[in-house]
Amino acid sequence: MNEFELLVRLHQAGDRQGPGDQAQTKRAMELAGLFNRPTQLKIADIGCGTGASTLVLAEHLGASIIAVDLFPAFLNILHQKAEDAGVAHQIQTLSCSMDDLPFDAASLDVIWSEGAIYNMGFKAGIAYFKQFLKPEGILAVSELTWLTSNRPDELTAHWQKEYPEVDTVSEKIKILEAEGLMLLGYFPLPANCWLENYYIPLQSRFADFLNQQDSELTQSIVENERKEIELYKAYCNYYSYGFYIAKKL
Ligand code: SAH
Repeated sequence: MNEFELLVRLHQAGDRQGPGDQAQTKRAMELAGLFNRPTQLKIADIGCGTGASTLVLAEHLGASIIAVDLFPAFLNILHQKAEDAGVAHQIQTLSCSMDDLPFDAASLDVIWSEGAIYNMGFKAGIAYFKQFLKPEGILAVSELTWLTSNRPDELTAHWQKEYPEVDTVSEKIKILEAEGLMLLGYFPLPANCWLENYYIPLQSRFADFLNQQDSELTQSIVENERKEIELYKAYCNYYSYGFYIAKKL
């Protein structure tokens, strides 16, 4: 198994593949004004993983959703979850890369993407995604964000290396505005989204993951995840995912 296949194996058993929470997805839906719309919304959930946000969108909005992810293994699990929740008829899965989407221009009411736009980079992702939105369409994304201007050097060095686009809230908002989007709302994800909902369940799978295949590669994957978790515990006041909700004009 290569590194991607191993990462999929480690992450597919989780309820989610990144920090988040159903309540925070609903909060973003509220800020976006998506409840009680008269017509059925057409939504793409980009980098959906096993569908943590997809299912909330489907259940609460009755929307028609295209769930996009690079990895079919995640989409298969999403499909089963959608069947179990009785919303499979609303969801179409699509395995493709987020930088090569097959949608028509101005064809979507909403583009949703939780903890995934970093794979393209925030700026490139926003610039690319917005073409698929209808006028007045909604873009809702969560993105790694500094919560203050100053922070410990060790923390800056880590995330600058892992994700050079990490930046403050105000800089992220400037990017949205420069792309012609109007900010409707922003909030940082609270700590339970990282710990209870993501890191703690992830940590509980490390032993099994290593038992299945104890190689240098699996050990280094677990080591990296552990480092990320320790860093979060030490410095959680300085960064989070910011949830940005914006409207195309
Ligand atoms: N939105 C989900 C998953 C977040 S993890 C959640 O909140 O739980 C990031 C996701 O992006 C993973 O599912 C990963 O498979 C997907 N991904 C990574 N690179 C991608 C790409 N180039 N195109 C589409 N999806 C990608």
